[in-house]
Amino acid sequence: LFNKDLGQHILKNPLVAQGIVEKAGLKSTDTVLEVGPGTGNLTVRILETAKKVVAVEMDPRLAAELVKRVQGKPEQKRLNIMVGDFLKTELPYFDVCISNTPYQISSPLIFKLLEHRPLFRCAILMFQREFAMRLIAKPGDNLYCRLSINVQLYAKVDHIMKVGKNNFKPSPQVDSSVVRIEPYNPPPPISFKEWDGLMRIVFVRKNKTLAANFKTTSVLQIIENNYKTFCSLNNMMIEDTLDIKQKVINVLQSVDMAESRAAKLGIDDFLKLLYAFNQANIHFC
Ligand code: SAM
Repeated sequence: LFNKDLGQHILKNPLVAQGIVEKAGLKSTDTVLEVGPGTGNLTVRILETAKKVVAVEMDPRLAAELVKRVQGKPEQKRLNIMVGDFLKTELPYFDVCISNTPYQISSPLIFKLLEHRPLFRCAILMFQREFAMRLIAKPGDNLYCRLSINVQLYAKVDHIMKVGKNNFKPSPQVDSSVVRIEPYNPPPPISFKEWDGLMRIVFVRKNKTLAANFKTTSVLQIIENNYKTFCSLNNMMIEDTLDIKQKVINVLQSVDMAESRAAKLGIDDFLKLLYAFNQANIHFC
């Protein structure tokens, strides 16, 4: 009946469903975006408070079941079901997002939400436990990674509750967790491409020193190319004696981070590092 490729694990425990919706702090004026409503266990609860729900469901059979569930009821008019792939759907305005997410799209789902404008107030999302732990991980934690820092750059992320796998049907391989994501509004005024370019370098081996991660030939090659492009676009002379490796080391030393490791650095450290690189005309995209 259920399609494993679509991550269809229906939430069976009504107390968990109620808990998720309560944590959203919905107002009667809210438009809620729900990703993957399935048979509608969360949807009907959201409709008790919210003004309107826009639900994006990929599986037409489940979408049809949800239509049936509200048919002829007053809620019907306040529910708009869009059938299709969330990642390919142009999103409407929404105040809050609630989702027992299809796990195979966890990461692109978050970034699609964070890129949407205007920014939403908060998102209550259920993920596989380890993915949720990555989202909330802080410098020094085992699971701290590029995902942690990229999401935390744009949002406050909190762990809300653990949900054991037996609360679902069919039950998945691993336990889940619910997190709350509240985007910072306005978002930090930095280029994400540039930031992520830097993160890709330093988090490849997060326990190595920054100097070691920057000294690899492939990294230096990319940085040198970017440097030359930047100089020519800005009508700047490229030194005959250009030694990109030394330039990079100088920047790392200027902020006292040559021997630092990404595993222990936080957002403020990396913002400082990125600024220092940019001051030296070194860019990451
Ligand atoms: N919300 C329901 C619940 O809590 O019982 C179902 C959650 S189930 C974990 C994930 C749902 O997302 C399924 O209904 C699945 O068909 C749907 N889905 C999977 N991939 C999707 C995608 N790319 N876009 C939209 N919906 C998707």
